[in-house]
Amino acid sequence: MGRRVDRLCGLLFSAFGLGLVACGGAGPEASGAAPTRVTPPKRDGADPAKVVEIKEPAPAVDAEAPPVRKDGTIYAESELMGTRFSINLWLDPGRDAADGGAAVREAIAEVDRIEGLASEWIAESELSRFNAAAGGEPIALSPDLFAILQRSTVIAEATSGAFDPTFFAIGDLWSFKPGATPPTQEAIDARLPLVDWRGIELDAAGRGRLRDVGMKVGLGAIAKGYAVDRASALLRGRGFTNHIVEGGGDTFVSGSKGERAWMVGIQRPDGPGTIGALSLENRALVTSGGYQRYFEHDGKRYAHIIDPRTGWPLDEADSAISVSIVADDATDADAYCTAVAVMGPERGMAFVESQPALEAVIIERSGEISLSSGLRERFVPAPPGR
Ligand code: AMP
Ligand code: MG
Repeated sequence: MGRRVDRLCGLLFSAFGLGLVACGGAGPEASGAAPTRVTPPKRDGADPAKVVEIKEPAPAVDAEAPPVRKDGTIYAESELMGTRFSINLWLDPGRDAADGGAAVREAIAEVDRIEGLASEWIAESELSRFNAAAGGEPIALSPDLFAILQRSTVIAEATSGAFDPTFFAIGDLWSFKPGATPPTQEAIDARLPLVDWRGIELDAAGRGRLRDVGMKVGLGAIAKGYAVDRASALLRGRGFTNHIVEGGGDTFVSGSKGERAWMVGIQRPDGPGTIGALSLENRALVTSGGYQRYFEHDGKRYAHIIDPRTGWPLDEADSAISVSIVADDATDADAYCTAVAVMGPERGMAFVESQPALEAVIIERSGEISLSSGLRERFVPAPPGR
């Protein structure tokens, strides 16, 4: 049997299947039949863009060992945070597959936990309570939400507000589902004064508040990366240091695949396959692009990254097709990736070059691929025709 479905968090273990991430020595087994997916427990207000097909009934949960693939890895995936999360875990010689499976299950449950507290789309999440208290007294925050907000303010400052989680006062007016229409300029103008990351006030006692009534934080550009980092930390804590955790284009690469380095592919924006790959160890790679979520209206395309200065989505003509950022962790890579997309290809690459901890691969509208100086020797382009 090639696959096993675990009801908890809709987790699927599979002997097949790798999607966006092309991993070290990916052989024929890695491009085999797509695995079945099952829905996680559905929450009210979860991202409506998520469409999940249920192809077969899930068997009951048990502690059975997951299948180990020919290359010595366990692979599992689950639909979470409005996207697909996957874990590829190298089973060190002598390690038990059932223990690996148990660690993977815990790591997926950790992503589910982060989603439950940091999603602006879940009415009862801690973030929604934080937003609802805007303009009021500071409230006690969980260490996770405090950490995400704190990191958000640091990155907002470093990027002069190109990444700004308070964009959500306006982001809330936009839907990017096919068939959506833009909000009016009047509606945007009315909310623009509420977009200001300096209004996220955090104190030394672990409390926080939003300065003005009506301010709202959305963590769509950072929470996924944080969840990837937490899941990877959990696997390391269980002694599984060699793995890749990926969620909707946010990847953390931990350790190696036995003797070899993990290779991580960068998705081709115009179709299946990759433009190339990087070998990474204990680093994150995050890719973001307007092609992932957008709607068209009156012949114009509106994609899901918003310029916090205007409240409008990035102008297609001036923006990159796709931005990939390499950083020390997926939290940083995620947020900086969105910021570099907002800055545009030229300013974005200059910013990356000014930051020793960041590297970038930017696909420009002309199709040209720009690499930051630290990647020129390490990027392996995909062979033509792939
Ligand atoms: P990513 O795919 O990581 O670039 O994140 C895109 C998501 O981040 C969007 O779907 C929004 O939820 C959120 N977002 C959009 N624009 C911004 C921005 N300028 N700063 C922070 N978050 C943003
Ligand atoms: Mg991001």
